[in-house]
Amino acid sequence: MEDEQAWSGSEVCPVTGVPEAGDRRLDGNAAGGVLREVFAVDPTAAVSTCAHCGRPAPLGEHLVYADAPALVVRCPSCMQVVLRCASDAAGLRLEMTGVRLLRMTPAEGAPG
Ligand SMILES: [Zn+2]
Repeated sequence: MEDEQAWSGSEVCPVTGVPEAGDRRLDGNAAGGVLREVFAVDPTAAVSTCAHCGRPAPLGEHLVYADAPALVVRCPSCMQVVLRCASDAAGLRLEMTGVRLLRMTPAEGAPG
């Protein structure tokens, strides 16, 4: 897959800008701590960069359509779908293919 190729070589990480070097691969459990931080912040303050037009905007400024089967969030600049979220008896589902980068400031008291 294209994504695997992008992350397996010695390319620059699109999130940190740091060159990726060598095989330092861990299993998915190693991402648990950081992902818990990601999902613990106030998402409306997060700045989402649109994968369609490249414009960054706080999630709170996006347009939300809550009457669809899933909650649909659209870019305030190009109106394309940036993410969809559903929560029902089947569980919680989040699709973010329209988000190029989601940037959050650390919570107060957070390490780092
Ligand atoms: Zn856009």
